[in-house]
Formats: sequence, structure tokens, C-alpha cells
Amino acid sequence: MKININLKDGTAVKNSDIIVGIDLGTTNSLVAYTADGETKTVKAHGGKSALVPSVVYFAPDGEIVVGDAAKEKLETEPENTIYSVKRLLGKSYGDVENMEEYLGYRVIDDEDENTLVKIRVGDKFFTPIELSAEILKELKRRMEAELKANISRAVITVPAYFNDSQRQATRDAGKLAGLDVLRIVNEPTAASLAYGINGQNADAAQKIAVYDLGGGTFDISVLQIEDGIFEVLSTNGDTFLGGDDFDRAIMDYWLAQNDLTKADLQKDKNLSQALRLRAEEAKKQLTYDLKYANDLGTMQCRISRDKFQELITPLVKKTIKCCENALKDSGLAASEIDRVIMVGGSTRVPLVQEKVAAFFGQAVNNSLNPDEVVAIGAAIQADVLAGTQKDVLLLDITPLSLGIETVGGLMDAIIPRNSKVPTRVGRNYTTSVDGQKNLKVAVYQGERDLVKDNRKLGEFILRDIPPMPAGIPKIEIQFILNADGILQVKAKEERSGTETAVEIKSSYGLSEEEMGKMLLDSIQNAEADMKIRSLLEARNEANNVLLAADKFTEQNAEILTDEEKQRTKNLAAALKTATENEDKDAINAAMADLNDYTTPLAHRALDVNIGKAMKGKKV
Ligand code: ADP
Ligand code: MG
Repeated sequence: MKININLKDGTAVKNSDIIVGIDLGTTNSLVAYTADGETKTVKAHGGKSALVPSVVYFAPDGEIVVGDAAKEKLETEPENTIYSVKRLLGKSYGDVENMEEYLGYRVIDDEDENTLVKIRVGDKFFTPIELSAEILKELKRRMEAELKANISRAVITVPAYFNDSQRQATRDAGKLAGLDVLRIVNEPTAASLAYGINGQNADAAQKIAVYDLGGGTFDISVLQIEDGIFEVLSTNGDTFLGGDDFDRAIMDYWLAQNDLTKADLQKDKNLSQALRLRAEEAKKQLTYDLKYANDLGTMQCRISRDKFQELITPLVKKTIKCCENALKDSGLAASEIDRVIMVGGSTRVPLVQEKVAAFFGQAVNNSLNPDEVVAIGAAIQADVLAGTQKDVLLLDITPLSLGIETVGGLMDAIIPRNSKVPTRVGRNYTTSVDGQKNLKVAVYQGERDLVKDNRKLGEFILRDIPPMPAGIPKIEIQFILNADGILQVKAKEERSGTETAVEIKSSYGLSEEEMGKMLLDSIQNAEADMKIRSLLEARNEANNVLLAADKFTEQNAEILTDEEKQRTKNLAAALKTATENEDKDAINAAMADLNDYTTPLAHRALDVNIGKAMKGKKV
């Protein structure tokens, strides 16, 4: 199946057949490709490095800047400069609550722990998907300048521990950047490919440990590779451990040395960012030198390699502990590992290499550039895919996404296109109305954000859900797709055990042409679709917040003053009005206003109610 997508809708521009490999990193991203049997990373015209810092800056005139130029703004305009967005991809506010003190920018919560995070820049709100798409667009531009042709297809890597929603968010970001994401590949798999390990010319299965210490995340994976099949035996790691923590350790040390506290830094975000950059500079220099000194105004910024190693020893130990756990889970002893591969910029630190080699009892593989190896491997995988494109259809792959309709007519893809079959994916949902007894499950196939633009495959109703308040029932919907393309959909309310299932024949019956058209449509409409999706999502959220606010004022009528009730009412009315218009930023802003105002009231009400409940009770 070959789909050439010309987004400019003209015919003049050449479309490249090349499929690119992209490492969309927390700290740095880059793109690589294979041509004439050679795989290489892509630098900016006249640039030195292939790394694009994963930083997005919003200029006052509305321009969006990505990469090195954006990274420079971290110091001067922290609130308009977004970094580490990968940490927020596919996450809800509940997941990231404790991270905000480390971010120079604002992450918005909407009371509900389960809402996906948004980031506020000025009076606009962005999702991590939109921000990731900006990074991908920059890589796409870079690639197109290099090849002087349109690029439309990509393989993107993700950490092995990424869950379904994080993988889906990565796909969505690709689509929004105008890319057809053919495959999501695990980073350790890509790294192994870059080292030429593909199980093709080995006598026995190879066992590989991939140690990946980047800027924001640590990931250890144990793979077994045989006959071109990569099996992840185990993964372990820490989503909050990386080179950034080395930087912070140096920062904390310097603060203490200069009799300053974290509170001093919080008062001065500019100083905080400047110090962060200086700490990173020190860390990198200490990979090669024994000492670093470069003061920041009156602040002394000096450190020796010994001191640095002492500071990071607990962090490195933590990674070794993870390695231990990963080995245990894989059922292998360290001596059974055939090769250890080092990935991520932070594996340049000599202490890290030393400790990892000691733990595995062997020299590590670090001959390739550790911050390029994932992109190189992705480009190798992409080339393999390009080679198999002549086969009419990869039969072990679902050609189009399968999903269900959620509130507002949105498509929620449960099995993304290009997933291997057979596969089984489950996801949890809940009700949106108090006392809801039935839940309609409508199954669709296609790539568009609104179900009305996709193909309906069937629907059924999960009946007899015991009456519960909205949001309480826990309904798991499972998609089980067998190798023949027969989809079984099961829905189960877990608190009561109510269950229903149907079998649906998913359509391989579509012609290639029809499928191609559906894909093309989805990419050409990605931006418009995303706009509608975020508007609908904002409206859904707003409606939930309005219901909650109503309930709250009613239940706490005695506790609230008249003025507070009036003010809450006014803010709710403003939110209601906003939902009737098409501006999602206005809805989000009105929602934030209402939340900001009612949160302290809610805390007070809670205290009073607890006090009441305690009264008269013997303790
Ligand atoms: P990610 O995969 O998280 O995007 P990278 O693999 O690009 O991250 O690694 C980025 C991290 O590597 C940063 O914390 C950076 O400071 C660190 N790093 C880069 N070069 C060096 C070096 N020479 N010594 C120590 N750390 C380095
Ligand atoms: Mg990485």
C-alpha cells in the first residue's frame, strides 16, 4: 500500500518515498533517514548538531519557535517557553501534580484528577499533543529542506514503558504535524537496530540490555532478539530520573555554597533558569575535565568532578537498582546478557559508564553517539518498512484504527492503525450522567477525530448498570482483534460485574484506494479536526465543572456567604456563556477563573463538614 500525500494540494512538489525515523525526546529530538543504504541524521542547514532541543517558545507576535533559539528563551521568558513536554504527553493532572515546581510554565488543572493536562501560555491553552506536533513540524521542515521534497511518512520512537494513551498521543502529534505515522517503535528496539542487532545472523537468541539515561527519564529494557523478532522481556526505570536531576543536584549544591535557598530561586525564575543552564554546562564539562568554574554575577558556580560524582552517586545507584529489578523480571542473570547498549546523552558521564559496566560485568557498547542512536535505529526500521511496501497489504497489521464514540461524538481510537494483530487492548470509561443505566458502545473504524467522518462498524448497549452518580461506574471496554480481522468488543461494569460482548467483522474489505482516501482525509483535516476536538473536549469539561459547581453551592448553602454564592453564580454564568461560543481558550479561561475562585471555598466547606461529622462522635 503506497500513499503519496501532497499536503499543499498542488502537484508541483515532489513527494519523497523516504520514510523518516524520528526520536521525539524529552530533552532533544532529531530526525534520521536512510538513502542508498546509508543511515544518517539531519542537521539544520549549516548547523553543527542534529539535536533539536525539545523546547517551544511563543513569541509575543504569535510566532512559534522550536529548538536552540527557543532554548535561549528559557532564561528570559520562562513563562512563554515550554520544555519537557514529553513528560506530560497522555497524562492527566493527577499524574503530574508534583512536577509543577520544576516547570517554569503553567500546567492547568481542572479539579478533576483525570482530565488531561493543558499548558497555559498567555491567554492561550495548549495540549502536549499540539506542542509535540510543533517539534515534529520543525523536524519535518528540516528533513524537507535536506531532501528538497515533501515528507509524509514517519516512524516515531517512544520509551518501552509508554502506555496506550501515551502512544496514541504520540501518533496524534504526528498526524497534527502532517505525518502519517506508520509505526511506533520502542526506543530500546531502535537502539539495538542501530548497533546492527536484528537477530538475522545469530545462531541463538540474543539477550540485550539497553540502558537509556536521557534528560528526563531513565529506562532499562531487556530484549530477546531472534529471527528479526524483538521481544521485550522486561522493562524498568524511572520517569522522573535523568540528566535534569544531575543538573538539579549541582544547582542545590551551589545554592548551599552561596547561602541561598530554593525559595530565593522561586522568587526569581530568570535566575533559576540561568542557574539551571549553568549547571548543565558544568555537568557536560565534567565529562571531560576534572574541574568547572564559571560564576554567575556574585554567585559562585564551581564544582569538581569528585564532588559531582559524590552528588549523583545516589541517583546512579537508583538506576542500578532498576537494572537489578529488570533482570529479575526477565528471569536472567547479569552474566546471561550478551550485550549492554548505552543510550541517551547522560550515559556520557564517566561514573555512569563505570557503574553500568561493573553491574553487568562486561564492557558496554558506546561506540555510537548515544543521543543519536535511537533516531538512527528508527530510520533503519523505517527503511525496512519502505522495503516491504511493495507487498500489497501487511496482513498482520490493522490498516485503520478501531475505536468507539465518546461524549460529543469524538472518536477514541482503541487499537491504532498499523498495530500488529492479534491484539487485545482494554480501556476504562465511566458514565456522564447521574444514575445512568445504559451505555451505548458504538464502534468505528478510521482516522478522523469525529466519528461522523469515520465508518461505523456496529453498536451495542451495556444494560442494567446499577444506579450510581456520574463518574463512579468503572466500565472496561476491551477490543480483541484476531489475526483474521474479527473484532470482539466487550464491555463490563467492574463494580457490579454487568457484562456484554459483540463480534464485529472489521473491514479489510475496503479497497486500497478507499483506505488511502481515508488516511489522506485524516491528515489533511488534522488541524481542523484537532480544533473541533479541543473545542468539544473543553465544552465537555466545562459542563462537568458547571454541574459540580451547582451541586457544591446547593450542598453548602449554609456555609457560603451570599456574596460567595453570587460570585460563584456569576462565574458559572460566564462559563456557560463561553461554552455557547466557539472559542476554546475562552472556555478554558472561564473554567480556570471558576476553579480558582471556588477551590478555597471547597476547602473551607470540607473543613466545616468534617467538623460536623466529628461532633458527637466518641473518639
Ligand atoms: P532525551 O532522550 O531525554 O531527549 P538525550 O538523550 O538527548 O535526552 O539526553 C539529554 C541529556 O544528556 C541532557 O540532560 C544533557 O545535559 C545530557 N548530556 C548531553 N551531553 C552530555 C555530556 N557530555 N555529559 C553529560 N551529560 C550530557
Ligand atoms: Mg532519548
